[in-house]
Amino acid sequence: MADFDDLMSANRTFAEDFRYGGFDGVAAAGVALVTCMDSRIDPLGMIGLVPGDAKIFRNPGGWVTPQALEALVLGVHLLNVQRVLVVPHTRCAVASNSEAELRERVAASAGQDASWQQFHVVEDQVAALAEDVAKVRSHPLVPDSVLVGGFLYDVDSGLLEQKV
Ligand SMILES: [Zn+2]
Repeated sequence: MADFDDLMSANRTFAEDFRYGGFDGVAAAGVALVTCMDSRIDPLGMIGLVPGDAKIFRNPGGWVTPQALEALVLGVHLLNVQRVLVVPHTRCAVASNSEAELRERVAASAGQDASWQQFHVVEDQVAALAEDVAKVRSHPLVPDSVLVGGFLYDVDSGLLEQKV
């Protein structure tokens, strides 16, 4: 039970001046963001938002998966989302390794076969981003009034560049 003590202690401190109780959970700034799980990314801070402002969906690579589309449809219709940003980033592991390389690295760490584990890698990050943005724009439950953009986040400068 002690494995998480440091984090639980931090949580009690966090809850001491908790300000979001009773909040209805909409995206107060009307923003949804799909981005990578990468620890170098601060999805709210990088666009000047704070907790409560945006719906955030993260996965390895920041791809628009079926689950991401599910989240965006809910966001658009039930949670005040009017603008969607799809944000992969520079030096991303799933854009700079092949699936075989990732399987080899995981297998070396795990000490067992990992050839059955799927990783959604891409060779051309910007082409994949364009496809992902098109997936959101063309979704039958995402109205044309929703603005959708594709951006690349530079993990070394902190800057976003719109690509799509
Ligand atoms: Zn990444």
